[in-house]
Amino acid sequence: MRKNIVAGNWKMNNGLSQTQALISDLKKQEQTSDAEVMIAPSYTNLWPAFEALRKDTIEVVAQNMHFAEDGAYTGEVSAGMLKSIGVKTVILGHSERRAYFNETDASLAKKVDAALANNMRVIFCFGEELADRKVGNEETVVENQIKNALFHLEADAFKNIVLAYEPVWAIGTGETASPEQAQDMHAFIRSTLDAKYGAAIAEDVSILYGGSVKPNNAKEIFSKPDVDGGLIGGASLKAEDFFAIVNAF
Ligand code: PEP
Repeated sequence: MRKNIVAGNWKMNNGLSQTQALISDLKKQEQTSDAEVMIAPSYTNLWPAFEALRKDTIEVVAQNMHFAEDGAYTGEVSAGMLKSIGVKTVILGHSERRAYFNETDASLAKKVDAALANNMRVIFCFGEELADRKVGNEETVVENQIKNALFHLEADAFKNIVLAYEPVWAIGTGETASPEQAQDMHAFIRSTLDAKYGAAIAEDVSILYGGSVKPNNAKEIFSKPDVDGGLIGGASLKAEDFFAIVNAF
């Protein structure tokens, strides 16, 4: 079922003591919205975060994983490893992974398959670069990213997929897509899903917006009918700001 979700992507920030301090701050916040709340600490802090939030409704999710189950992949972490410490959701395809670690639609399709085979939920990220938008190519880019990484899936798989539209030009830049730009793209994404899988699937999938969402702009963005929440970078590193966004619904 379509849900409102706010997920904080901590990226490569926070050692153990900062993780513990931020989680302790998060636990003091009051939630007044019905959104599902997630945080994605770095690998080394997944277990302490999971332990600290065991009795809490905040879900601890991973920022990435490898597509193989195990083997000679130095430095990598598998879905099975994440599952073994209780992590049930993974972010895949973040633009920083695509840009700095050569992740492609093809390698992401394999990661999506591996996560789903392990009964994990996937937050699948995609979005156009500024150059694409400048020439009016944003819908084609987004459509291809979705098709190439996800359209081999059976319809049933989408109950474990959350989409995150993140225009690259808005990530960490302070620049946000306008609520109208976000709504237009989210509606386009839903129509792309509808064309392949039908209206029931398209209506059921949560589509998050990511790109400089802050306490002062979250309400307007989340008020759009096809925006079901946000993937939050910078503003997820302060408990008050993060919960101001969570409570913006
Ligand atoms: C992100 O990294 O997914 C993101 C949206 O970052 P920020 O909120 O800092 O733009």
